[in-house]
Amino acid sequence: MRAVVVNQAVKGDVEVVERELRPLAAGEALVEVEYCGVCHTDLHVAAGDYGEKPGRVLGHEGIGIVKEVAPGVKSLKAGDRVSIAWFFKGCGSCEYCNTGRETLCRSVLNAGYTADGGMATHCIVDADYAVKVPEGLDPAQASSITCAGVTTYKGVKVSGVRPGQWISVYGAGGLGNLGIQYAKKVFGAHVIAIDINDDKLAFAKEVGADIVINAAKEDAAKVIQEKTGGAHAAIVTAVSKTAFNSAVDAVRAGGRVVAIGLPPESMDLSIPRIVLDGIEVVGSLVGTRQDLAEAFQFGAEGLVVPKVELRPLDDAPAIFQEMRDGKINGRMVIDMKKGASGCCGACGG
Ligand code: NAD
Ligand code: ZN
Ligand code: ZN
Repeated sequence: MRAVVVNQAVKGDVEVVERELRPLAAGEALVEVEYCGVCHTDLHVAAGDYGEKPGRVLGHEGIGIVKEVAPGVKSLKAGDRVSIAWFFKGCGSCEYCNTGRETLCRSVLNAGYTADGGMATHCIVDADYAVKVPEGLDPAQASSITCAGVTTYKGVKVSGVRPGQWISVYGAGGLGNLGIQYAKKVFGAHVIAIDINDDKLAFAKEVGADIVINAAKEDAAKVIQEKTGGAHAAIVTAVSKTAFNSAVDAVRAGGRVVAIGLPPESMDLSIPRIVLDGIEVVGSLVGTRQDLAEAFQFGAEGLVVPKVELRPLDDAPAIFQEMRDGKINGRMVIDMKKGASGCCGACGG
C-alpha cells in the first residue's frame, strides 16, 4: 500500500512511502480507503507537538470500503462503507468506556497518532469501532465529518447553547466552518465567527455566520459584548491561545467556553472573572461513535455540507504546507485512487 507518514526528523514534514500490509488479527477488518481529509491535528502530530511518532501513518478523516473481515467479525461485512476516526479504539471496559465518555479511555488508540491511520490506500481497523457511513452521504464529504464535523458537533453539544442564543466560533478553518453549520442549522443558534483571515470569514458568512469579526483588526471580545451583550457560549477551534483568552472575555455571565483547538501552550484564566461571572471552561475531544453516527446523519440530510477539494496522494506534502500557511478554505481531501497530480484516476496510478 501507499501511505503518508511522519518523516524521521518529526519537524512537521510528511512523505509518501510504500508499506506492506500485515495480516488481519481477530476482530479486525481491512478497509480500502477512498478519501482522507487533512486535519490540523495531522500537522501537530507531524511536528511532534504531543510526542514524536516518526514513520506513523497519518490520517483520521478516512472513509473507505471494507474488503475483508477476520473470521468471527459480525459488526462489518465486505462492501460496507466505514470511517477511520481519531477515536480508533477504546478498551471497552473502563469507567470512561462504560459511561458514554469513550474518547477519554486511558488505553485509547488514536488513528494517525498511536495507530496507523487512514491517510493510505489501505487501513486495518477494529471492526467494532469503525462507524458506518449512512446512505445518501457523499463519501468525500463524509471524510470531513469524521473529525472536523463530529468534533464541532460534539463541541456545540457540550457548549449547551440553546435555540436563539449566541455562540462564538473562534477559528473558521476546517473545523470552524462546520461548527458554524452545526450551531446554526442543527442547534438553531445565532453564530459569531471569528478568524484572522478575511477569506475564511467570507466563507463563514456563506455557510451561515450572522456576524463575522477579524480578530487581527478588531478586539473580538469587545465587539461581541457590544453587539450581543456577550455570547452565551463559545467553541474555540483556533490554533492560538489569544483566541482562547478572547473567548473567555466574549461570553456573558454564566457562559461556557469549549476548548477544541490544540495549540501546545497555556491560556490565561482570571480567577475573579471565572468566579464572579460564573464562567465555565471545558475541553472537548472529538466525539463518541454515537456522536459520529449523529453527525453523519445531519450531513446525509443535507443540513451540514462540508466544503471539500479533492487532491491526489502525492500532493500530501504540499497540502500540509498550505495548511501551515493558512491558505485552505474548508478541507483538502486526498483521493486515494489518484496517485500523482494530473493522473486520470482511472488507471489507479
Ligand atoms: P485549520 O488550520 O483549518 O483552522 C484553524 C483556523 O484558526 C484558521 O482559519 C486560522 O486562520 C484560525 N486562527 C488562527 N489564529 C486565530 C486567532 N488568533 N483567532 C481566530 N482564528 C484564528 O485547522 P483545523 O483543522 O480546523 O483544526 C483546528 C484545531 O483544532 C487544531 O489545533 C487541531 O489540532 C484541533 N482539533 C481538535 C480536535 C479535538 O477533538 N479537540 C479535533 C480536531 C482538531
Ligand atoms: Zn482531526
Ligand atoms: Zn476504556
